[in-house]
Amino acid sequence: MSALFGTYARSPLAFERGEGVRLFSQDGTPFLDFHSGIAVNALGHSDPHMVEALKQAAERVWHTSNVFTIPEQERLAQRLVETTFADAVFFTNSGTEAIECAIKTARRHFFDKGEKDRFEIIGFTGSFHGRSTGALAAMGNAAYLEGFGLPLPGFRHVAPGRIELVEAAITPQTCAIIIEPVQGEGGCTAMPVEYMRALRALCDRHGILLILDEVQCGYGRTGRFFAYEWSGITPDIMAVAKGIGAGFPLGACLATAAVAKSMVPGTHGSTYGGNPLASSVGNAVLDRMLAPGFFAHVERVGAHLHWKLQQLQQRYAHHLLEIRGRGLLTGIKIATPVRDFSVRLRDTHHMLAQPAGDNVLRLIPPLVITEGEIDEGVETLAAAFEAMDREKASA
Ligand SMILES: *Cc1c(COP(=O)(O)O)cnc(C)c1O
Repeated sequence: MSALFGTYARSPLAFERGEGVRLFSQDGTPFLDFHSGIAVNALGHSDPHMVEALKQAAERVWHTSNVFTIPEQERLAQRLVETTFADAVFFTNSGTEAIECAIKTARRHFFDKGEKDRFEIIGFTGSFHGRSTGALAAMGNAAYLEGFGLPLPGFRHVAPGRIELVEAAITPQTCAIIIEPVQGEGGCTAMPVEYMRALRALCDRHGILLILDEVQCGYGRTGRFFAYEWSGITPDIMAVAKGIGAGFPLGACLATAAVAKSMVPGTHGSTYGGNPLASSVGNAVLDRMLAPGFFAHVERVGAHLHWKLQQLQQRYAHHLLEIRGRGLLTGIKIATPVRDFSVRLRDTHHMLAQPAGDNVLRLIPPLVITEGEIDEGVETLAAAFEAMDREKASA
C-alpha cells in the first residue's frame, strides 16, 4: 500500500538511471523515452553539462529569499529578455504558477489603468493550463472542475479555430485571451499561424492582452525557441515551464515592460521561485539550447519524425488515423483506446509515450534525440501495431 494520495493511477515501474533518450528500470531493462517526464527532460537524461551545473550550484548557496538579489536569477532573466519578446520575467516553480502569474499580471494591468471591471479572460476548449483553481477556471473543462465547488469567476470559453467566435465573446470586461499555440494535453493540436495572427490583431483592435501558454510547446519543442515565432507575432504575456529546467522544478512568466510595470512590490511573490539552484540549472539549459544549431536540430528531427509517421500511416492506416502537432510535440490519433496502447507499448515494447486527449498518443522525446533513435521509436510503434494485428488474426 502506498502512503501517497491516490491522484495517479501509477505503474509499479520505477527507473534507476537514465542516459540520453533511455531510462533504465530497477532490473536494468532499457526503455526508449518518448515521454520525457511529460515534455520536461528536454536535454535527455544525465546530460554532463547539466549534471555538472547542478553539482556546482549545490556547493554554493542553495536558497535565499527573493528579498535578496540572486545573481543567477538576474542572469537567467537577462538571457530570456535578450532572446524573446519579453522585457521582464517572474520565476516560479511550475507551469501552473506561471499561469497564475500571467492571469494576475493581465488583470493588474487594467486595474492600474483605472479599468477595474476589466478582468475577464477568454480561454479555449481543449486547453490545459494546470491544476490550481485559477488554472482550472481558465481551462473551463468540466471534467477537471467537478467536485471542487464553483469555478473562479472571470473566464469565458470558446472553441479554437474560428476567429468570429472569439470576437463574439469579447465584452467591455475582457482583459485578455489565453491560448496554447500547440495544445499539449488536449491532443497535440497546433493552431494555424493565420489563426495566431488573427488573435493578435483582434487583441490589438480591442485593446486587450494576448497571453500564450508555452509551458509545453515552448523551450525548443516545436523547433523554435518559442512556438509563437512560427507565426511572427508576439504575446504580451507568456507562461513557460517544463523544458526551462529540463527536470529541475522551474517556471517563468514573461511580459512586456508595459504590462510588467503594474506588478509592483506586494502584488505577487514566491518563496522558491528562481532560487539559486533552479536558476543555475536554468542557465545551464540555455547554455545548451542557445548553442548554434540546437533549434535547427529539433526542427530537422521533428520533420523526420513526421515523415516517418506518414510512412507508418500508409502501412497501418487502420491503426494510425491522424498525425498532429509540430516539431517534437507530435501526436498520433489511433483507432484503439490510447491508454491501453500506451501500456502495451511500455510493458511489451519498452517504449514510453504519454496519452493525451482525443485518443492521441503524444510523442514528446528529449529534444536531443537523433534521427536513428526516432527511427527506432517509429519501428517500435510498427511492431506494436503488427502484434495487435497478429493477435486479432489468431483470435
Ligand atoms: C504541464 C502544463 C501546465 C502546468 O504545468 P505544471 O508544471 O504541471 O504546473 C500548464 N500549461 C500547459 C500547456 C502544460 O502543458
